[in-house]
Amino acid sequence: MACTAIVGINWGDEGKGRMVDLLTESFDVVVRYQGGGNAGHTVINRYGQFMLHMLPSGVFRKGVVNVIGNGVALDPEHLIKEIRELQNKGVSITPENLMISERASLLLPWHRQLDALEEARLKDQKFGSTKKGIAPFYSDKYQKKTVLAGELFYPEILKQHLESLREWKNLVLTGVYGAEPVSEKEIDDWLAQYCAPLKLFIRDTRSYLLEAHRQHKRILFEGQLGALRDLDYGIYPYTTSSNVLASFAPIGSGMPGVEIERVIGVVKAYSSCVGEGPFVCELFGAEADRLREIGGEFDGHKPHRVGPIDLVATRYGVQVQGATEIALTKLDVLSKLEEIPVCVRYKLNGREMDSMPFPSILGQCEPVIEKMPGWERDISGIRNWWDLPEEAKAYVKRIEEAVGSVIKWISVGPERHSIISRG
Ligand code: GDP
Repeated sequence: MACTAIVGINWGDEGKGRMVDLLTESFDVVVRYQGGGNAGHTVINRYGQFMLHMLPSGVFRKGVVNVIGNGVALDPEHLIKEIRELQNKGVSITPENLMISERASLLLPWHRQLDALEEARLKDQKFGSTKKGIAPFYSDKYQKKTVLAGELFYPEILKQHLESLREWKNLVLTGVYGAEPVSEKEIDDWLAQYCAPLKLFIRDTRSYLLEAHRQHKRILFEGQLGALRDLDYGIYPYTTSSNVLASFAPIGSGMPGVEIERVIGVVKAYSSCVGEGPFVCELFGAEADRLREIGGEFDGHKPHRVGPIDLVATRYGVQVQGATEIALTKLDVLSKLEEIPVCVRYKLNGREMDSMPFPSILGQCEPVIEKMPGWERDISGIRNWWDLPEEAKAYVKRIEEAVGSVIKWISVGPERHSIISRG
């Protein structure tokens, strides 16, 4: 288990949080390497139910060290609120079990504001941003127009740096969007309220991880979102602004050159998608409503888009993630269906295809659907592969064959113990 990554194979929300929470038992260190406050991992355990956005999902396990790597969009306001929420529920978060890379760039107060302003400007053509400032943050990071967490230890240099960035960003805020400029006081307050309390966690995590690796500590890289949202390999431009792939984990963590031996790809037993963009297997009407209802596919009251499992997209996701094994989640959700639809291929201009087309033509593809018999009984209490109904086993094997990777875990409920391990 030396270096392992857990990553999403689909559009995100596959249930990675529950898998990380389950498997952290076998790891010493859990590392987040990309993304920020834009996607949440749901974890249910003895402390309660949590939606972790920025903290690695190993924070609940005693003895596990959690690292926020240099590739993460470090949002101090979001992170400090998340830390306090967990601490208030009895979870211990100290510099011993949480470390933040001094090379992580800070998501600055104007990034969230710019995200919302740009989505509002785009109107009908919006990308479905979560408005957490992620796209403006990453574009500024690559323009070298944000600051590093470690700069908090050099207040004079930081002040000058932030002042020049604020001056530049106010030109954009006022000139392009006609918005209010950000004042010096707002920045000072943000530094005092949200950045100062994070300082005790910030350190050289690269050296820490290198030493941990040398000592054969077991390191788990926790990916956010899914392969189809990857900036380079996803359904561009409906992607996120960072690289979610396991291959990026060593770079975004501070361990360039380190080999990841195992990549656990998390696949959902059906498809769901939050946000805009082509979603070939999408269901509509009553069929969609039913699946959404039984799968609990809502963000508050906002419905997620849903569909049957998409074998074309899932096979592609497995390939680009380089998944060596699969965890299949939410199989229990399909227990109520008489027949299980499966998107086996795509059709474009009368021609069928089983590999992922170029993103620009994805929106013109139609799904080719086949139906498999359902099992129509509750499987949430099952813990052994052999006890699963034959129809459920056939469904799992069908996915396994189509994506070319072994399904090692089958999750049949959101709780930590609701899992079938195939050894
Ligand atoms: P992540 O972003 O990939 O970590 O996924 P989420 O945290 O958004 O998980 C999606 C939802 O599915 C959460 O509400 C989980 O509690 C729930 N979930 C995860 N695995 C299962 C499962 O096997 N069965 C059921 N019924 N729910 C699950």
